[in-house]
Amino acid sequence: MRDFSLDIYRALLEALQAKDYQIIGYAEYLKLKVKSGKFIVLRHDVDAKPQNSLRTAQIEHSLGAKATYYFRVGKESNEPQVIKAIAQLGHEIGYHYEDMSLCNGDVDKAWSHFQTWLDYFRQYYAVETICMHGAPTSKWDGKDLWKKYDYRSLGIIGEPYMDTDFSDVFYLTDTGRCWDGYKVSVRDKIPRYQDEWTAKGLVWHTTPELLRAIEADQLPAHVMITTHPQRWTNRTGEWWKEAVLQTAKNIVKRIIVKHT
Ligand SMILES: [Zn+2]
Repeated sequence: MRDFSLDIYRALLEALQAKDYQIIGYAEYLKLKVKSGKFIVLRHDVDAKPQNSLRTAQIEHSLGAKATYYFRVGKESNEPQVIKAIAQLGHEIGYHYEDMSLCNGDVDKAWSHFQTWLDYFRQYYAVETICMHGAPTSKWDGKDLWKKYDYRSLGIIGEPYMDTDFSDVFYLTDTGRCWDGYKVSVRDKIPRYQDEWTAKGLVWHTTPELLRAIEADQLPAHVMITTHPQRWTNRTGEWWKEAVLQTAKNIVKRIIVKHT
């Protein structure tokens, strides 16, 4: 099975379920009264190619798994038909915000922009959670908005980077098109706990490696998994394009990380 194909994505979910992990969205995680048992908080950042997200959403639905899909405002992500279809499958929809970048760091403009777009997404789904889009090339950190304003005042109950207890929840992301890309990620990482996780050996590069770790019961009981569905495809041409492009991007990101 090719890595970053939909086939291996399905195999990953099946392997987790075979080990009794419950697969849930972010709002559901926040609402758990007792955070016990084994669970995966499944998060998707729809940075591009929304149609690919519909495919992962269908796979999850067929397995009885739930996830949260975070959409951006731009056309590369914001596809109402897809948003509606994913919500219909019982998944959670959230806002993948980047208002600070889009408003050039003007915090008051960004706040009003945020409210406009939150209302927009709420036409399709009663959005309760939001998640920062961490573009490595942007000089603005989207979370700076929360130094002045409070998303809770708009009925938002959580933001994964701000409201997840990472002392309890291990974090895995496919950023960089691998599972240990935090090394080259500018913003998609949990700096406080990453060293601890690395020391425990919780480091896997490919999905087959991750599958073997799940099989060997090496994965912690509580995990947040973030994927970018645009990377996952069964189409050969699209797969190669992603693979080559990401190798180039990682080189650039490595340079940015080194110099920040
Ligand atoms: Zn993003």
